[in-house]
Amino acid sequence: MTTTRFAPSPTGYIHVGNLRTALMNYLIARKAGGTFILRIDDTDPERSKEEYVDGIKQDLEWLGLQWDRVERQSERLDRYNAAADKLREMGRFYEAFETPTELDLKRKKQLNMGKPPVYDRAALNLSDAEKDALRAERGNGVWRFKLDHERIEWTDGILGDISIDASSVSDPVLIRGDGQLLYTLASVVDDTEMGVTDVVRGSDHVTNTATQIQIIKALGGDCPRFAHHSLLTGPQGEALSKRLGTLALRDLREAGVQPMALLSLMARLGSSDPVELRTDMAELIDGFDINRFGAAPTKFDEQDLYPLTAHYLQTLPLDAVAETVAGVGVPADLAEAFWLMARGNITTLEDLGAWWELCRDGAEPLIDDEDREFIAEAMALLPAEVDGETWGSWTKAVKEATGRKGKGLFMPLRKALTGQERGPEMAALLPLLQVIKARG
Ligand code: GLU
Repeated sequence: MTTTRFAPSPTGYIHVGNLRTALMNYLIARKAGGTFILRIDDTDPERSKEEYVDGIKQDLEWLGLQWDRVERQSERLDRYNAAADKLREMGRFYEAFETPTELDLKRKKQLNMGKPPVYDRAALNLSDAEKDALRAERGNGVWRFKLDHERIEWTDGILGDISIDASSVSDPVLIRGDGQLLYTLASVVDDTEMGVTDVVRGSDHVTNTATQIQIIKALGGDCPRFAHHSLLTGPQGEALSKRLGTLALRDLREAGVQPMALLSLMARLGSSDPVELRTDMAELIDGFDINRFGAAPTKFDEQDLYPLTAHYLQTLPLDAVAETVAGVGVPADLAEAFWLMARGNITTLEDLGAWWELCRDGAEPLIDDEDREFIAEAMALLPAEVDGETWGSWTKAVKEATGRKGKGLFMPLRKALTGQERGPEMAALLPLLQVIKARG
């Protein structure tokens, strides 16, 4: 059965970058009728915060990306230790004692000689006595996985055929000197034991994948299918990494972005399919195909979310927004008419307040000098009772009385009644103008 996971480290909130990872894994699982696991990668007790675990769940719920179960790495440390023991027994695990400064020096030397900065495996030559001495002097070493120096190959769902020479990669550290188990091993154990069949993650994980494939094989597990999506850049192709902090989902939600607008964009951005608004999740799931995504960096422009949000809001019936409409003060008997009038003239729900203020209090009329007489004449013709038909019959009467037509007829009336040149259909707005009603 298809099983995917979204595996955030709870060291921050979800932003547009990791949303892509979450969404792709979610869509693959749902499309196949499989399982979507929310895996909290919290092996680092210092940086992981419960507040972020809650925040991540809230954000996924807001988006409607419902997970089937939650797994926490901090509760599975015994599994990782068991895997580490197994690797030790197999001779694929070795302790190394270099300090960060020593490693840095080695890297610099290698680079100076034009060589790739790969760990030289000096620790493999240490005798037991030398290790004891180093341990006594420096404390426990780190544990590195001994890669097989062969080519590591896989067919990536996005990048295509990948082949990496293992000798160009340092033996990965899987356990730190202080005993903390690192993500690389934890992730492999989880993916294997949880039957994960498909892993989608950012292309910054490609080298990780190469080493993880060898660890999976060493532990006798089955390799999932891997796909690495490109990283997001800003609209001009600039790195987004520094700005991602301000592109947290909670900030976008605060700014009024609608979940379906965000999902519609993220499910298509970087693929060969056009971005189109989808109004429900089923449509997104149906139209998703990971193979249609390209390897090139993907440009993301936050501003694209607003037309999609506006478009989405236009499709909603009152039911979907009744609370918000009531919240801005619209009385229940006017709610439906108000929403149908306003929904095509807002970018976010935030804009509703201003339209209700206009309906409730009226606007400072905008009347050009040459229109004064015309407006006075028109207002005298406005019937006492105003309904949905009034605008049509009234403007017809005004046209007959004044001889004005087209823009010269309609624009001065709009400006006088709303104080603006643009806005909702006047036929729908007129009966909502409380000042006009009160006048009768
Ligand atoms: N916790 C890892 C991250 O956020 C997960 C990567 C993976 O998908 O394996 O980068």
